[in-house]
Amino acid sequence: MPSPVVRLKPREGRRLRAGAPWAFSNEVVMSAETKALPPGTLANVVGDDGREFGTFCFNSKSLIALRRLSPAPDAAIDADFFAARFARALGIRKALYDAPFYRLVHAEGDGLPGLTIDRFADTLVMQVTTAGMEALETEILAGLDTALSPGNVILRNDTPTRALEGLESYVRAARGETPPRVSLEENGARYFADLARGQKTGWYFDQRENRAFMAALAKGRSVLDAYCYAGGFAVLAAKAGAREVVALDSSAPALALAEEAAAANKVSARTRFVKADVFEELERLAAAKERFDVVIADPPPFVKAKKDLEAGAKAYRKLARLAAGVTAPGGFLLLASCSHNIPADRFAQECAIGIERAGRETALLRQAGAGPDHPVHPMLLETGYLKALVYALD
Ligand code: SAH
Repeated sequence: MPSPVVRLKPREGRRLRAGAPWAFSNEVVMSAETKALPPGTLANVVGDDGREFGTFCFNSKSLIALRRLSPAPDAAIDADFFAARFARALGIRKALYDAPFYRLVHAEGDGLPGLTIDRFADTLVMQVTTAGMEALETEILAGLDTALSPGNVILRNDTPTRALEGLESYVRAARGETPPRVSLEENGARYFADLARGQKTGWYFDQRENRAFMAALAKGRSVLDAYCYAGGFAVLAAKAGAREVVALDSSAPALALAEEAAAANKVSARTRFVKADVFEELERLAAAKERFDVVIADPPPFVKAKKDLEAGAKAYRKLARLAAGVTAPGGFLLLASCSHNIPADRFAQECAIGIERAGRETALLRQAGAGPDHPVHPMLLETGYLKALVYALD
């Protein structure tokens, strides 16, 4: 059966024509028939000039109403389709990393809009964010069985963005079971993650290369890791030879995982994990004239929605000021943002102002994003959400 056709309005579909895999709801002819298509319906998209754009997931209720799965019209979106996509994604990761711990599927970047999968060896954590992908769960799981026959597949379908597509929130094992926690290897260090209850999918693979960069700077130096979560930056810095590492987080379960990681890497004696609010603790440390040679601040998103931009930008500026204030002369500072909703140049500007207000002169050493297991669709550069800036402070 051919899929229903969704038509673009005259002269619309500029981004699609330029090669992006998206069209917005205001670009679509919303006839009664089109509007009535259930969220997530597979559809063929056709321009007013008759040009065919391929097979898409359609959700009339979503701002990004059309997301492309294949450039071919009426493509079979079945287990074989997913198995082929997964095999390609797996091939890229195997070329990048020795150990089987990485983001295996990064949505549009891997040709699979609405689907994210993190791999912890035999256990996969999958997150679906669109109605289209939700309707294809059976085919996705069958494709995974073919491509890498995982022991456990956990659906972490509890991200708030699902509500935008009218999807419920739940966590369950679709294959095997949910291990209470898993151990993972990254940059040669051992860590632990709680896949069912931890943040996002349980681990932030996106900072891998930035952790390695900061760890290399940390050798023989003192380190402060604000927002340490399960110890990603802190433990690697200690393992790389940091003199002492102080790590802060407000979450007791995250700190417990970080402490376990420190023990597993035999660096407990040089690491101290403190339950604290970062802003309060930075002010306290500054007042006590404590300084660290390397400071890392990778906070939760301060700009959750576009409307929060100004308030969030202010918070990034304040964090930069406070973090620079506890960075020793000649020290290094990493400031990161995982907010989709603050552009990279705005974030860099706020960081620069914050550091200046701390009375420090600085050189920007490195501007980085997420690692290469988070590929970006070449026509959707704005989906590269992670920004990590490393400064040398005078
Ligand atoms: N840097 C980490 C990821 C940080 S995620 C890594 O490399 O894996 C953000 C962290 O900030 C979470 O662990 C969360 O518990 C913590 N957090 C959120 N608000 C906080 C606050 N006000 N003070 C301290 N930690 C906070």
